[in-house]
Amino acid sequence: MTRAEVLRRAAGQLAVAGLQEPRLDAEVLLAHVLGLPRLTMLLDTSRDVSGEDVRAFEALVARRATGEPVAYITGVREFWSLEFRVTPATLIPRPDSETLVEAVLRAFAAQPPARVLDLGTGSGCLLLSVLHEFSGSFGVGVDRSEAAARVAADNARHLGLADRAAIVVGDWAGAVAGPFDCILSNPPYIGEGEALSPEVAAFEPKTALFAGPDGLDDYRRIIPELDRLLSPRGRAFFEIGYTQAEAVGRIAETNGFSVRIHRDLAGLPRCIECWKSEKSLGMGTGNG
Ligand code: GLN
Repeated sequence: MTRAEVLRRAAGQLAVAGLQEPRLDAEVLLAHVLGLPRLTMLLDTSRDVSGEDVRAFEALVARRATGEPVAYITGVREFWSLEFRVTPATLIPRPDSETLVEAVLRAFAAQPPARVLDLGTGSGCLLLSVLHEFSGSFGVGVDRSEAAARVAADNARHLGLADRAAIVVGDWAGAVAGPFDCILSNPPYIGEGEALSPEVAAFEPKTALFAGPDGLDDYRRIIPELDRLLSPRGRAFFEIGYTQAEAVGRIAETNGFSVRIHRDLAGLPRCIECWKSEKSLGMGTGNG
């Protein structure tokens, strides 16, 4: 069978399985089996696919048909134009999260952050993208999951950033000492009763998604720690659910921070930037 035939058949199967982008998924999986970039594979779709490759491909298509995310099948996902390895121990990087990297670049355009902290680093996508942009910065990525921390460390090596990124296992910021100029976090923020797409719910790590009844539990835990962790002129960037800007902003303000909201490509509030407010700096913080 030719690539075109193999793709057509698989796209049909995936469409019947109810997937949103059956053709694209089939292309990504075939390119993965052939060990080629997708666009290179598509340059010559009249080529024959060996029986062995067809069988390997069909096995992956069958997995995809059950809803398993493409990124877990291929083991990679692009984020900020970099290639990240992912496993079911890590959330799959979302384009929405690039909003945080953009906000960091804007905030530190004049002077790069010396030290960067990423709480709940997962695949390491936020920390490593920022370190990739700022070649003089050092960073620490923390994750409670040892399996996730291994993936982040692997990505640091693979992206040539291992000499500037330390990955540690820990419960939020408990294991780290500041000060950091830049703190990143994409904590879990889904409320327990909230509906998630079945693919996300069935395959992605629940500990990276759910955060108590209103999805705010982890902001309530992390934000009070910022005072200890941020340098006086430091900034923290949190990913938020698009309905949470007000609630998370209130938690930050209650803790003595000024906030700014950044929107994602869909125009939805996706990131809250926090810095110590002039008032709290003037008064000295942490004195109740
Ligand atoms: N944005 C992700 C989703 O909707 C959730 C990420 C998170 O909880 N940090 O699937």
